[in-house]
Amino acid sequence: MEADAVVIGAGPNGLVAANLLADRGWRVLVLEAQPEPGGAVRSAELTHPGFVHDVFSAFYPLGMASPVMTALDLPTHGLRWRRSPLVLAHPTADGRCVVLSTAVGETAQSLEEFAPGDGDAWRDSYASFERIADPLMQAITTPMVPVRGATRLALALGPRGLLEFARMAVQSVRRLADEQFRGEGGALLFAGNALHSDVDPSAPPSGYLGWYLTCLGQQHGFPVPEGGAGQLTAALVRRLVARGGEIRCSSPVTRVIVSGRRAVAVQLADGDTIDASRAVLADVTAPALYRQLVGEEHLPPSFVRALDRFQWDHGTFKIDWALSGPIPWRAEPATRAGTVHVSDSMGRVSAYVADLARGQIPAHPFVLMGQMNKADPTRSPPGTETVWGYTHVPHAPVGDAQGELTGKWTDHDSEVFADRMEAVIEEQAPGFRSLITARHLLSPPGLEARNANLVGGAIGGGTMALSQQLVFRPVPGLGRANTPVRGLFLASASAHPGGGVHGACGANAARAALAADRTRRAVSRAR
Ligand SMILES: Cc1cc2nc3c(=O)[nH]c(=O)nc-3n(C[C@H](O)[C@H](O)[C@H](O)COP(=O)(O)OP(=O)(O)OC[C@H]3O[C@@H](n4cnc5c(N)ncnc54)[C@H](O)[C@@H]3O)c2cc1C
Repeated sequence: MEADAVVIGAGPNGLVAANLLADRGWRVLVLEAQPEPGGAVRSAELTHPGFVHDVFSAFYPLGMASPVMTALDLPTHGLRWRRSPLVLAHPTADGRCVVLSTAVGETAQSLEEFAPGDGDAWRDSYASFERIADPLMQAITTPMVPVRGATRLALALGPRGLLEFARMAVQSVRRLADEQFRGEGGALLFAGNALHSDVDPSAPPSGYLGWYLTCLGQQHGFPVPEGGAGQLTAALVRRLVARGGEIRCSSPVTRVIVSGRRAVAVQLADGDTIDASRAVLADVTAPALYRQLVGEEHLPPSFVRALDRFQWDHGTFKIDWALSGPIPWRAEPATRAGTVHVSDSMGRVSAYVADLARGQIPAHPFVLMGQMNKADPTRSPPGTETVWGYTHVPHAPVGDAQGELTGKWTDHDSEVFADRMEAVIEEQAPGFRSLITARHLLSPPGLEARNANLVGGAIGGGTMALSQQLVFRPVPGLGRANTPVRGLFLASASAHPGGGVHGACGANAARAALAADRTRRAVSRAR
């Protein structure tokens, strides 16, 4: 069997790459290890029949803003975006609640309640984002060095603005929030959003990450696909199949076959070999691609040494709940929000990240929650709710801050830790637990079993820390999809610009494959 391009892995990046190659007339075959496509973008009835849960990711502001995804025009392939009345709420111990709304006045008003003047501070901060939103997104979603995007960004900012922006990009949430706001509301908004990644709010670039996601939420909301995350995947698959692409599930790739320093084929677990006449694109993590599929013998020794320093992001522990009714939050805005950040103060956030930094399973987890029915009532029968939530845990735990867990994620560990997460929510919503009719737990090993890219529960394809960003991703010197093996391209979140459902890693890999193919053909014509 032969294809022009073989794509290993049907996550969003793999599917985006496959779509872009199929658009150019390539015969594309996507090989997926799991029984269904989607990677970390899937939904399933995890609890009761009729309760649709997002098994991994749930909110897609990046998908909505990314030029890569918008160019695919997925709504014409059946995708319908839905938004909650309020984007995000973060209730605090003293009964206040900072909110993010697509109405800038509502966000500003909530910040104003934390300190006079903070509302206007947010309006200014968001206005600075609006001036650069498009060129910034373009710069992020194109390969390093993003010449066109960076030029547009520099023109939009001007010399002074560029310097200010560069300074902000290397600040922590703590410092940035101190400079922009007087009350705790702004710090909570930025810190909670930075914690969607693995970057500590007291370290750079958490300030930039928190600010950027807050601004995206202000601009687009945190949209969800009607019917579940799997509908985003279904639209990508429909588009690909309509262009002649093929997807084969339950087909784990065990080897990339390299001949004459070029990737020429892949081998499947059942021993089958599939030739790839033009390119192999890998939507798998960088360590898995280079160490397991390619083999160190095909890589320069300096590259292998750089790979030794590859750093994973935190592990993740996830719960999906089926509830008999809406969560009785003490803070009213949380009853309208699609996303709720649960950690009652910046003090608690700091203690949580300190536990993570010490390799301890946190005593008081920061819970990132999704009240999915707020945006999409189709997720469960009328009157009931599906709720999604996760927290970070150490990638390799050395202990438990409460001294209860082994850190091996036994069934006992999982049940006790899930109770701990629920206790944090119960503080803000007394009566929450009494509404639970079923819960489904995914510990780090459980996540990895359902998607080999989620190594130890790492959801970002490697840390988003500055040391592994931009030209340092996944190893210093790359920042692009090209690999040391000709005809082989890294298409997963391990490549720049990293985790999130924006499709840029896949698009960069597809463009690199097309460019390399053009060069190869030109050279062979010239001979
Ligand atoms: C719990 C959780 C919550 C998240 N929340 C959000 C969110 O709300 N919003 C957001 O934007 N992002 C979120 N993310 C991150 C986002 O889902 C990922 O960054 C994104 O899915 C990465 O896409 P990918 O295509 O690179 O990899 P993946 O989506 O991980 O897909 C990789 C695919 O490759 C397959 N594969 C791996 N190895 C092989 C092999 N050898 N052979 C064949 N197939 C193979 C896997 O089975 C998988 O299907 C979340 C992730 C998780 C896990």
